[in-house]
Amino acid sequence: MILILQPDTETDSSEFQSLLTHLSGLEGVSHRVHQVFGEERTLTEIYLIGDTRALSETEMSELPCVQRVIRVSDAYRVLGRHKDDARTSGFQYNGINFSQDSFHVFAGLCAVDNPTNVERMFAALQQNGQQCARMGAYKPRTNPYSFQGHGADCLPWVFELAGKYGIRVVAMEITHDRHIDEVAQALEQTGNPTGVMLQIGTRNTQNFELLKHVGRQTRFPVLLKRGFGITLEESLNAAEYLASEGNSQVVFGLRGMKSSLGDPHRNFVDFAHVPTVKRMTRMPVCIDPSHSVGIRTRAPDGIPDLVHATAQGVVAGANMVLVDFHPEPEKALVDGAQALTLEELPWFLEDVGYAREAYQKRCRAAARQLQAEQAQ
Ligand code: PEP
Ligand code: MN
Repeated sequence: MILILQPDTETDSSEFQSLLTHLSGLEGVSHRVHQVFGEERTLTEIYLIGDTRALSETEMSELPCVQRVIRVSDAYRVLGRHKDDARTSGFQYNGINFSQDSFHVFAGLCAVDNPTNVERMFAALQQNGQQCARMGAYKPRTNPYSFQGHGADCLPWVFELAGKYGIRVVAMEITHDRHIDEVAQALEQTGNPTGVMLQIGTRNTQNFELLKHVGRQTRFPVLLKRGFGITLEESLNAAEYLASEGNSQVVFGLRGMKSSLGDPHRNFVDFAHVPTVKRMTRMPVCIDPSHSVGIRTRAPDGIPDLVHATAQGVVAGANMVLVDFHPEPEKALVDGAQALTLEELPWFLEDVGYAREAYQKRCRAAARQLQAEQAQ
């Protein structure tokens, strides 16, 4: 059961304290306070965990500070969509809104290599009106002898350059909890020129200790990638780990599934799950066409497979696109084979724009249809 409190409830008020005292007296039920800090107001929710079947919704809604009561199923308590659950989705971070209605492209380097390429990338993004980017500093690699990323050393200059070109959010994978502090320190040291969305990669989707660490901080939102060899349910539960620890600012990323049935692509593209994840949870959904498709091959119509896959995800309602670009893909230290070039950026964004427009038209058509059905 979730108690949604009145907006801006003060946690040091006597009403709030008397609510907690009441909840502490409930036998077999523990509670956890969860706060969402928005730009305009703070929302407080209390999760009641344990045997809540005997609790009456009416009685609970009459307790001090309580605005609404939601009875939830066991699955995805915080991030899921429940019956009669009208809670809004999404969050605001560093001036950018992320929700199931928003749309942002995070183009950039799979792996940071040198300041020149990072600067060329950010400059191209700014020229094309973009405020978000991807940059990899910590790279989990299959081969132990492959380049593992510059790690903490590159963070100060990456963040400074991001700020210089008006980039507000950089998606950056971390693979260890100490990386959270390294990112925070580098931001402090450089005067917070940009923001960071912590990315948990597909190899760490079920790294529960990492999920708990990342979930216990609320400074940075999180992009959690789907595990490439586990069920969707298992990956959604991984997202719920973050939220259950206190951070519900989570974007869910689809990046293809490992299966030789997806050949010749790197992974089997799973973007048909965009609307599924939006239906099952309140998370914004990201697609990663680069790591799904993995190659730059072009279809006979002149459109590369990975641009086709992007459009398929966007037409299905994706809220974010994470995509690899590089000024010179042949010299990229990681995943050059799937990187688009800076010259291709304006056309890529144009193509994405057509797909987004098509999605919005589809939503309007569906709304008309629904209205007609309801009028019958
Ligand atoms: C990445 O985005 O750079 C990455 C390694 O992705 P994934 O975890 O999906 O393989
Ligand atoms: Mn990569």
